[in-house]
Amino acid sequence: MRITCPLCGTRDRREFYYYGDAVYADRPDAGAVPEAWNDYLHLRDNPAGETRDLWYHEMGCSSWIEVTRNTVTHAILGTRLVSERNSRRDKFVYQEGDLREIKPQATKPEPKGTEE
Ligand SMILES: [Zn+2]
Repeated sequence: MRITCPLCGTRDRREFYYYGDAVYADRPDAGAVPEAWNDYLHLRDNPAGETRDLWYHEMGCSSWIEVTRNTVTHAILGTRLVSERNSRRDKFVYQEGDLREIKPQATKPEPKGTEE
């Protein structure tokens, strides 16, 4: 499997450390209710289909990357830097040969003035 790092380009997956579901990057606010923390810490979907995961480019640029992939076909549909998730939701680096557009999932409204 090959993963396209937005900064380094396409690399072997062994250069990356798999962390888990991308929901880990959506930490609740400090004052969130206990149920929100319980969901964040313990509840995960296990979809047959499209999912988003966090990968760390351990043997490269040390960036955290969100990888969108299909758990059935093992196709990687897109990657982007975790640091750019909130301000540039629609921008992905597509794997070669797969130019399918990825729609962002329903999320909280963007703060004003951060969209490009
Ligand atoms: Zn990299």
